[in-house]
Amino acid sequence: MTDRISTGDDIDSYCTKCRLTLEHIVVAMVGGSVVKVKCKTCGGTHRLKGTPNTTPRSSKKEGGPVYRSSVTVHALWQAAVNAANGTELEYEMSGSYRPGDLIVHSVFGKGVVQKDFYRKCSVLFSDKERTLVTANT
Ligand SMILES: [Zn+2]
Repeated sequence: MTDRISTGDDIDSYCTKCRLTLEHIVVAMVGGSVVKVKCKTCGGTHRLKGTPNTTPRSSKKEGGPVYRSSVTVHALWQAAVNAANGTELEYEMSGSYRPGDLIVHSVFGKGVVQKDFYRKCSVLFSDKERTLVTANT
């Protein structure tokens, strides 16, 4: 006894007068199926047309909020910049940088060194992490 339709219930049906699928009220039933409906819009009574949608409206799927990954990266970058010590270092390929250093790149802007490797290091910029060439040994 979950989604049984009975006389007086709301039902979606195609209205021949309005020429639209609209809410109707069940006015006549035969053997458990709807045979006559009344249009809530125009008030006209007609036979049921089309496939009735008996699914409760509240069961419609609702998509959750979508978080863009760049928001998280930006938050990480902001926290890293705030936590970085020392003065801003201008990035140069011939330079040597260590994790925690705050560097300024001519194209990417401010970044914080995350890890240093042989002749390169990973730097977190406001949009994403990039690998830069350095003179690290
Ligand atoms: Zn109608």
